[in-house]
Amino acid sequence: MDTVDRDTAKKLFDYYRKHRDGIRNKPEMASVCLICVSVHIIPKADNAHKLVCRDCGFAFYRYSCAVCGKTVDGRDPKNPGCQKCGIRICSCGECGCRPEGDISV
Ligand SMILES: [Zn+2]
Ligand SMILES: [Zn+2]
Ligand SMILES: [Zn+2]
Repeated sequence: MDTVDRDTAKKLFDYYRKHRDGIRNKPEMASVCLICVSVHIIPKADNAHKLVCRDCGFAFYRYSCAVCGKTVDGRDPKNPGCQKCGIRICSCGECGCRPEGDISV
């Protein structure tokens, strides 16, 4: 079942290719591939933190922060990767492995 239609996906794609800060706050972006504009996005079988595009195979982080509940999206520049645990750091500064909130890389 598609949650986003093709026209909407194209508009979101055009906008968020240029404005990546904000992808995490847009629920529809869980269903749009930023590589090929596909709306066929499914949970990645071997990684609970990732979604994968069925059409081009691009996988990206998208999940809820375990600390504050906000959405974390690996395509958003405000969610950089954590060197220690390998998942993404939420805009609250947490990724799950750094309770002190030290976001230096
Ligand atoms: Zn794709
Ligand atoms: Zn958080
Ligand atoms: Zn971490």
